[in-house]
Amino acid sequence: MRLVSVAVPVPYLDPLTYNVPASYPGLPPIGARVRVPIGSRTVIGCVVAHDASLGAGTEPRDVAAVLDEEPFLLPAIVELCRWVAEYYMAGFGDAIGVAMPPGSRRADAFKTQRVIAATAHGLAAIVGATPASPLPDVRALTPKQREALEMLAAIPGGLPASVLRDRGISTDVLRRLAARGLVARRDERDERDPFEGAARMDVARDDNRLLTGEQQAASDTLAGLADAGRFRVALLHGVTGSGKTEIYLRLADRVCGSGRQVLLMVPEIALTPSVAALFRSAFGTRVAIQHSALSDGERHDQWQRIRRGEIDVVVGTRSAVFAPLANPGLIIVDEEHDSSYKQEDSPRYHGRDVAIVRGRASGALVVLGSATPSMESYHNAVSGKYSHVVLERRVLDRPLAAVRLVNMREEYADEGPDVVISRALGAAIEERLERREQVLVLLNRRGYATAVFCRQCGDTFECPNCSVSLTVHRARAGWRARCHYCNYSMDVPKSCRTCAAPYLEQAGFGTEKIEQQLCERFPAARVSRMDRDSVRRKGTLTALLSKFAGGEIDVLVGTQMIAKGHDFPRVTLVGVISADVGLGLADFRAAERTFQLLTQVAGRAGRGERTGEAIVQTLYPQHYSIQVACRQDYPAFFEKELTYRRGMRYPPVVAMINAVIRGRTFEEAMQTATDIVRRLEPCATRARFLVLGPAPAPLGRLRGEHRVQFFLKGTRRADMRNALKDVLATMPDVRRRVTVDVDPLSVL
Ligand code: ADP
Ligand code: ZN
Repeated sequence: MRLVSVAVPVPYLDPLTYNVPASYPGLPPIGARVRVPIGSRTVIGCVVAHDASLGAGTEPRDVAAVLDEEPFLLPAIVELCRWVAEYYMAGFGDAIGVAMPPGSRRADAFKTQRVIAATAHGLAAIVGATPASPLPDVRALTPKQREALEMLAAIPGGLPASVLRDRGISTDVLRRLAARGLVARRDERDERDPFEGAARMDVARDDNRLLTGEQQAASDTLAGLADAGRFRVALLHGVTGSGKTEIYLRLADRVCGSGRQVLLMVPEIALTPSVAALFRSAFGTRVAIQHSALSDGERHDQWQRIRRGEIDVVVGTRSAVFAPLANPGLIIVDEEHDSSYKQEDSPRYHGRDVAIVRGRASGALVVLGSATPSMESYHNAVSGKYSHVVLERRVLDRPLAAVRLVNMREEYADEGPDVVISRALGAAIEERLERREQVLVLLNRRGYATAVFCRQCGDTFECPNCSVSLTVHRARAGWRARCHYCNYSMDVPKSCRTCAAPYLEQAGFGTEKIEQQLCERFPAARVSRMDRDSVRRKGTLTALLSKFAGGEIDVLVGTQMIAKGHDFPRVTLVGVISADVGLGLADFRAAERTFQLLTQVAGRAGRGERTGEAIVQTLYPQHYSIQVACRQDYPAFFEKELTYRRGMRYPPVVAMINAVIRGRTFEEAMQTATDIVRRLEPCATRARFLVLGPAPAPLGRLRGEHRVQFFLKGTRRADMRNALKDVLATMPDVRRRVTVDVDPLSVL
């Protein structure tokens, strides 16, 4: 028997062993797709090993079809997926799934056609020798091979394999001809350009501009590391506006020049199209873009181009870390602190961390760039594990925005409890409007109001499926209350559902209300809103961004979307309506997130010739993450936060695994969690890690299910993972109700 190990698209499943039937010549290579039976259906899986083993007395089933003669996934990517599956406790097939371009697991995946053409050698075999191609040995050609070659010799561009098949020429015949160099095969399709259609960002890049002294020094250090051609991680810690993109471009150019490829990872291309566009203008058609806003077809095309080796630079989001580059020499993770690098369903991988693993495997330089590095990366930089490259100043000595705090308690005392826009912020906006400068206003909360309640009986509107109150949105037909977790929605009634009193009131505020208040207060200003609701329709996001860049919007209100790496030189004021939105969450990263968001959004002001200012409204002006964000003092934040994490034993001081158990009832979830924890305890004592919980999750109910969670904390991840894996293996019916998150970003 010839056995192969196949990763299949079934959650949490380890690879299965199949037999390759004798009718197939050779073994399908590692990385090839195969169609295999599972139960009563067949699925498309990927060959991940040749030395498969069989349990005693088991009969393997046969591979139903081999779809690729050459590896579809590069063997290096198969290995990367193996690491992802193991580290994040996901199935191998789940990990393989994110590495494959969309659609490649459908039976009809290959709409792209394979075209076969005779080579010069092949032609010579038919029409006679030429000086360039001496006559090959044609005696060994079978009649079928000869027939195929004759057919092809007549058509210069070649014929699709499907046409040849219709004319009775099998793939096997073609493969044998190809093996002797008589025909060449290529994949053909119309390549769609992902930049077409979407509003192009105008990027004027001055190729010859001089780097600042600091940029030059950073650039030299990184170039030295890249030239060494060995694995190394460097943290490029540069304040907002310090010109990190320029450094990426030069480094990328250098590495391409040495014949290796470059992978640039960005959090969300749609939000920061300019970085992708800059790379596009610098590298032309040797750039491929990989991100989720592309259509499946576009992504597929791009993926194939990379796989064929036509690409030097890949710019992409999280999943681009699996891009099929043959020999990446440089991997850049821009805005490495950004939480969108973490995938929040299985495999729950962190794109930055997988990038580092990929860099290690391919001997590449990995550059992590940020103005507000994650605690993890900065910790590794100060401990010497990573190189630490710092840019302390903005280019052209532009100052960082001055940050002013407004204590909202005082504002309420003076102006009443309904104030949303403080006097200071209102006056500052007015000033900017007069000077025809632009303003960004941040509130990290969507909707109009955060709650509805009855003034008579106190009844509130909670989601029937989740333990959160419904958010009020303004809809064309009136008020609508919606759950931001499960999307349940209902009309807000005129009177209370419980006591029928007509005293329903709304409380709290979100971006919609800010937009409305700004419009009322500054009727001449052009105000727009950017949040997940306003950009739902395809194309609105790019349209909004380019309108703002073009000066057609004066004030842009939005959620954290407006804080991402935008470079709008005419913004001189950033207003933060409430710095406190994230602080109250029961999440150990709350302070880190708040610090990052405030620092990043303040960093959007004053990037042009005029100095910028940020006005931050808060109820807690003394909170350290707000204080240090005002001073934009990252090292001070890090020290303070690390002390807290040490005291509480949170990452990066320890490694953490979070497990959430879901159940139809709270008791069921709690019972299962208690069972798992009890079974873990002996191992925890032996391997010296902590098990904390079980306890109800902060989000106690989600989409109709109750949630209970526990944590593992310790210094050796592998011990914790193995213990949990072993315990879950003894409870097979429980696995699908447990979500395991290794290195969780959010623990709600
Ligand atoms: P960061 O990503 O570090 O926040 P950017 O790369 O967006 O900063 O650069 C900020 C601005 O400075 C951009 O408009 C960029 O074109 C400009 N810039 C970068 N380097 C230089 C330089 N050496 N001279 C002049 N302008 C520069
Ligand atoms: Zn809900």
